[in-house]
Amino acid sequence: MEKESDIDKVVRQHLEMEQFFTGFAVKGKSTESHVPGEGNYLAPQFIAGSSAEPQDQQNDSSINEKKSELQKIAEEVRRCRKCELGSSRTNAVPGEGHPNARIMFVGEAPGADEDAQGRPFVGRAGQLLDKVIAACGLKRSDVFIGNILKCRPPENRDPRAEEIINCFPHLQRQIETINPEIIVALGAPAARTLLNTNKPIGELRGQFHEYYAGLGRAPIKLMPTYHTAYLLRNYSPENRRRVWEDMKKVLAELGLPIPK
Ligand code: URA
Repeated sequence: MEKESDIDKVVRQHLEMEQFFTGFAVKGKSTESHVPGEGNYLAPQFIAGSSAEPQDQQNDSSINEKKSELQKIAEEVRRCRKCELGSSRTNAVPGEGHPNARIMFVGEAPGADEDAQGRPFVGRAGQLLDKVIAACGLKRSDVFIGNILKCRPPENRDPRAEEIINCFPHLQRQIETINPEIIVALGAPAARTLLNTNKPIGELRGQFHEYYAGLGRAPIKLMPTYHTAYLLRNYSPENRRRVWEDMKKVLAELGLPIPK
């Protein structure tokens, strides 16, 4: 078995504690259905489950509430100084996208381009993510894109345990607000943090897992896949095929057409 690093251990322990105090971690099958239209936690716009685009018009007041909550979270992120990244960053990168997104992509942390612009996934890895989204027949504005850390670690070093612990609640609130049908976790740090596991990404990817969304809430389906930055460094047909296989499962789960 792979040895657990200190950072993974601290994060795991923290998450276990959090889950203990907010109820018990939902592992395995939920008692609530996650079939579109059957779960009462689903926003009405998700019930049809057949359109690539979130349906803006159906419930104006609910979408406005989500928009203003997301703006509030973004402002809190921009003001946040809980860790030293708050003083080394140029811009915080709260995340962006559709308040009713059916799919939420979660990466690791902003890089230099994101730090300069205050927007997620705008560098080379972001351009590849745009291609993945387009290959799915979607637009970037249809989905929500965020990160585990909202500020760039200097020299793009790995996130530290205390940074994840301080920052993760912002993402948890974004997920709670958007309530996407599927989260796509890009790379090991995102998948491991969201799933509270220490398993390697190669073992996690390719199948749906469940993100524990909080007490009284149905878990959200989560598909781990390779980070686009990893894909750029290891741009083999095999790795591209793997990411595409993962995304096809996401589209199938949402009842969306799979482009050829
Ligand atoms: N890599 C990430 O994980 N997030 C970004 O926003 C950009 C690159």
